[in-house]
Order: sequence, then structure tokens, then C-alpha cells
Amino acid sequence: MTLNFNFNNTYTSLPEYMTTKLSPTPVKNPEMIILNYDLAENLGLNFKNVDLKELSNIFSGSKLPPNTETFSQAYAGHQFGHFVILGDGRAHMLGEQIKPDGSRVDIQFKGSGKTPYSRSGDGRAALGPMLREYIISEAMHYLKIPTTRSLSVVKTGESILRESKLQGAVLTRVASSHLRVGTFQFVASNQDIKTLSELVNYTVERHFPEIKNNKNLALELFKKVLNLQIDLVTNWMRVGFVHGVMNTDNMAISGETIDYGPCAFMDNYDPQTVFSSIDHYGRYAYINQPVIAHWNLVRFAETLIPLIDSDQSIAIKKVETEVLKFDELYKDSWFKMMKSKVGIIGEDENDLKLINDLLSLMHRNQADYTNTFRNIMNGKLPKESLFNDPDFIFWEETWKNRLKKNNQPDEKSYDLMKSSNPVLIPRNHLVEEVLSEAENNQLDKLNKILNKLKNPYNEVDEEVYLKPAPPSDKIYKTFCGT
Ligand code: AMP
Ligand code: MG
Repeated sequence: MTLNFNFNNTYTSLPEYMTTKLSPTPVKNPEMIILNYDLAENLGLNFKNVDLKELSNIFSGSKLPPNTETFSQAYAGHQFGHFVILGDGRAHMLGEQIKPDGSRVDIQFKGSGKTPYSRSGDGRAALGPMLREYIISEAMHYLKIPTTRSLSVVKTGESILRESKLQGAVLTRVASSHLRVGTFQFVASNQDIKTLSELVNYTVERHFPEIKNNKNLALELFKKVLNLQIDLVTNWMRVGFVHGVMNTDNMAISGETIDYGPCAFMDNYDPQTVFSSIDHYGRYAYINQPVIAHWNLVRFAETLIPLIDSDQSIAIKKVETEVLKFDELYKDSWFKMMKSKVGIIGEDENDLKLINDLLSLMHRNQADYTNTFRNIMNGKLPKESLFNDPDFIFWEETWKNRLKKNNQPDEKSYDLMKSSNPVLIPRNHLVEEVLSEAENNQLDKLNKILNKLKNPYNEVDEEVYLKPAPPSDKIYKTFCGT
């Protein structure tokens, strides 16, 4: 078998209690549903000359490649604000792959069977949610937003019991690592400072080698993660993405979007948008995402205190100074991003008002988030309620006058908008349609949408990809899809 796996596991060199070595549970009748050949090539894998049956065996965790030692990771986390000890309850690491460019990524199975961390779950995953993760994570990648990626989805041939019987599936996920805020919380909860320090060294070596000679490694690491999270959340806000379950165990230290559960893209602009059926109080609503990122970062900071200074009060002061920068940094990042969405360059004292006015008009008129920016960018304002609103006509005039102050060629402003405003997002009703067809072995629409989503910033001819959900679908709910 010449798949070209090039594993070199380093995570298992951390103290033993952070992992459990164990194999995935083989499945009855693995059947490949989707395989990401582009990603495979990027990873240096070679699927040529290997038949699909063999690949299904491998990517369902039923037959491991030679010399692999799979393991699950321990972690903890705040789930909806409550601290719990967790761990990979249904995931197994296949290995750390060294890519042809020399970089390292985790290849991990999700839905591959029970582990000691499973608690009450069955260790399995359903086809729909795994395909959903595949579609949305790939869409994110092509939207140029940091994310884990998806290599394959294999049906297990077994049914799993949720509210009803569902088809089981295993997703193979690729991540630059699975280090989470929750990984640090797990070690900190054991009050194991030696391991905490090893974990910081490991993380810096793996993700931030440029700071490795810094005197205060923990503090520098915190600054790095803070900036990456600001960048990530700004990007989510830019494209109208609602992660849905920003628990600290679902926040990756690498700054990638991870754990696609009840996530979805917003249709009409409503800052309070929540899709998750279990998020009753809107903790993880669209507009709350920066607030929660900040909250999670404070949890991260708490774990690092013993390493920042031997004097606790000095350590707290030092890290607090960094935590306090969040608001200002996020505000600047968001503002810059929103300015690019409307193509304004340079500074004018009314810029913030211009943006906020647009958002309130969009909210008031229930305007589709993606399409409104697309229309503004193209200067083709359709005869819809939003654009007939006299306040919007006034807004547009003000905006056009502001563009004149750019003092830059029009193309520059247009290019800025084009790179900030996706035309194509994986709209909920389209994704649902694809998933229900896939449940019945119809994979054409799945392949088609994945192909389309590779160019989200280019104009699309087919109206079907642009239209928001029909009104009957407007109250879209996602389930924690396990
Ligand atoms: P999530 O909210 O998806 O991030 O999952 C929270 C925790 O529950 C993680 O530790 C998962 O591994 C675990 N978990 C989720 N679904 C299952 C399942 N079907 N069986 C066992 N553990 C699960
Ligand atoms: Mg999770």
C-alpha cells in the first residue's frame, strides 16, 4: 500500500495522562462517500492505484496503515460557561503527517468509536453532520478563513441511535493541531505546572517557533493566541458565520475554526442570530462571538498565570494588561474589515457612523447579509424593500460621496470589496438539500456545491446559489449534530 503517509508523532511525547493509546472500532461495511483529492495532494498522500474499498477501510478506521499508533486526547473545557473534564469522546488521531512542504498537521478520525473519554455517548457520528462539517469547513478554507479541513467521509454501514435511527459515518479531519484552550485547562486543573510548562514549550515549538527565545514564553504565547482569535472572529463576522458552540474546548490555539457542530451562515442580517437548538439564551449568537472569544481568552490566560511570574499578583497584572487590549484590538480589526466591505479607504470621521447606519438599515429591512454587500459592491441595487427605503437612498448617496474621498482609483476600492465580500456561501437550505439527497445515496448535488464553493468570491451564474432561503425556512435550527 503506497498511500505515502509520513507520520511523525510528537504529541504522545507529552506526559502520559494527556493521551490514551487505542484503536478505532472497526465498522461493518465501510463505503466511501466523499474523498478530498485536492487536500490529499496537498498532504503528500497518494490515492492513485488504491481502490476505493481499501480507502474506505482505512478512512473508517477499520484497517490502519502499517506503523500507525492511534490515540485520543484528554482535554477539559467550559461548556456554556460550566467547567467539565472532557476528551476525544469519539475521535482517534491517526497521526501527525509531515507534508511535502515540511509542515505538520494532525489527521484525525471523528466518529470512530468509543474512548475512555466518551462518558455516555456511543463514540459514533451521523452521516448528515459529518457531511455538514465537510462542506462548511471546505467552504471556510476557500473563503480564506483559517480552519480545519476535511479529507473524507465514509459511511459505516451501521445505524446509530439519536432521536431516530441514522446512518453512521466517520469524518477524517485535518488540523494544524488539536491543541485547544481546553487542553491547557485540563493540565491546569491537575495543578501540574511542570506539564503546563512542557505544553507551552510544545505549543510554541509547533505553532510559534518565532517566539521560542522569548524570556516570558507563556505571556508571548498568550499574545499570539489573542491576535489569532481576533483575526478569526473578525473573519467570521465578515462572512456572517455563526460558530454556534464556542466552548473553550472548541477554541483552537492555532487560530483555526474547529468543531463544526451547530454552525451556520446567516441569511438576513440580525445581530442576535442563533441557529443552535440548545443555545436557549443566545450565548453564542452572531454578535456575541467577540465577547465570547474574549471570555475564552481570559480562561486561557488563567491557565498560564503560574508560568508568567512566580509572584502571582505580578503574573495577573502582566496578563491582564494583555487581556485588556482585546477590546481595542478587536474594534480596530472589525472596523478595518467593515470598511473594506464597503470599499472605503483612508479615514474620515463619519466612517463608523456610515457602517453602523448600514447595519441598522439592513437589520430593519431584514436584508440578506451576503447579497446586500454583493449588490453594494456591484452597484446594482435591486428594487427590494431595503433599497427603496428613503434612509437607504440617503445612505447610498452619503456612501458614494465618501468613496470620492478615497483618493484612489475606483478599481482599488472595488478590489477591496471583492476580496471581502463573498458572493457564495453554503446557504443553510442548500446544504440541507444536499444532505438529504446524500442520505439517499444521491451525491451529485454534494459534489456540485463543493465545486462551486471553491470560488466564493467570483460571480455565479446560477441564481439558485445566490437566493436566500424561502421564508418558510427562515427559522432555521441546527442540532448539535452528534
Ligand atoms: P462538542 O460539543 O461536539 O465539542 O463535544 C463535546 C464533547 O462530547 C467532546 O469531548 C466529544 O468528544 C464528546 N462527544 C460528542 N459526541 C459524542 C458521542 N457521540 N460519543 C461520545 N462522545 C461524544
Ligand atoms: Mg468539541
